[in-house]
Amino acid sequence: MVREPSDSFAAGAAYIGGSIVPIGQAAIPILDLGFLHSDATYDVVHVWNGRFFRLDDHLDRFERGMTKLRMSLPIDRERIRELLHDCVRASGLDNAYVELICTRGMAAPGSRDPRDCVNQFYAFAVPFAWVANAEQRERGLSLHVSSVQRIAQESVDPTVKNYHWLDLVQGLYDAFDHGAETALLSDAAGNVVEGPGFNVFAVIAGALVTPKVGVLQGITRRTALEIGAEFESDLGLRVEERALSYEELLGASEVFVTSTAGGIMPVTLVDGRAIGAGIPGPVTQKFTARYWKMHEDIRYSEAIR
Ligand code: PLP
Repeated sequence: MVREPSDSFAAGAAYIGGSIVPIGQAAIPILDLGFLHSDATYDVVHVWNGRFFRLDDHLDRFERGMTKLRMSLPIDRERIRELLHDCVRASGLDNAYVELICTRGMAAPGSRDPRDCVNQFYAFAVPFAWVANAEQRERGLSLHVSSVQRIAQESVDPTVKNYHWLDLVQGLYDAFDHGAETALLSDAAGNVVEGPGFNVFAVIAGALVTPKVGVLQGITRRTALEIGAEFESDLGLRVEERALSYEELLGASEVFVTSTAGGIMPVTLVDGRAIGAGIPGPVTQKFTARYWKMHEDIRYSEAIR
């Protein structure tokens, strides 16, 4: 059942147990292994000015994640799309952060076999949230490269969007302890990989570099790579997906992070050292403008029904 937007839905709306409810009333069963074991995959897509951005790309990634985790749902892609539209419409939000989740579900009483579980689908829409606030986007984020190592890709596949966030959260506290605003984690080889909810890019001597492995294949990362290809000759920048070392990051002329939660956002300080001129650079600004312009393009966006 879909309800009309009302005040109780202003903080958001969720699809849970077969109906759309105000976000404050949405609760999952405590025995769902999505909660007890982080046995879940999810995706986050955003709505900007009443339009989903790259919804099909998010649905593709969500379905790939489910397949890798051997999960399945009794509803198809079009029903999922409809439920996401329903959540946003019920919330009445023009700019929203929309999450879709598939959990393992509950095991049969006494069973520890994940094959006995009935996988569950949940979704919600809440007001749009940013990795960097307005002031940080204006002056650039201050970032700390944490000594907390990103969980190995051989242990948890980072291309399956997952809730194994303890390393990212510990990294964030580490960053706060070092007087920075956010964190970037490295892999076992010492190359930087990703941060809490974002991928990273660096402009280094005529190249735009982003880590290739050990990261979520972010939809915003992909958008930035496409923008990079479009501007390649214009800016004289070639796009490189490869390992990115800490030293290269420090020596970059520009650094930015990418996330559904805010798009393309500048980083101007890494471990207290200024990146380039210490202000958001021209590449970052050009990419940011292009990114937001793409939201009006019907090839990348669809209006809330
Ligand atoms: N890396 C991690 C670990 C994330 O959780 C996210 C998003 O939440 C990203 C990268 C960025 O991905 P996207 O651009 O699809 O939001």
